Amino acid sequence: MKTRRFCPKCGRPVLKSQNREYIFQCNACDEDFCRFEVFRKTDLSQVLQIRKVEFENIKSRGGYIQSLKKPFHIFN
Ligand SMILES: [Zn+2]
Repeated sequence: MKTRRFCPKCGRPVLKSQNREYIFQCNACDEDFCRFEVFRKTDLSQVLQIRKVEFENIKSRGGYIQSLKKPFHIFN
C-alpha cells in the first residue's frame, strides 16, 4: 500500500507497518517508523539526498541496487 512517506535511512517509500505500535516500515532497512520519523513529499530534497548516499553505499559494497523510488521488495 502506498503511503507517500519516505524512509529516513534509505529514502525509499515506506509501507504500512505490520507492527501495531508503529505506523510505517521499510523492508530495505528492516525497521519500523513512527509518523514523525518519516519524510513527506515536502521533504523531497532531503529524501533525494539520502537516496544519493544510499546509492553510493550500495555501489561501494558491490551490491545489487534495487530501485530507490519504489518500496523495497523482498525476494524469497
Ligand atoms: Zn529504508
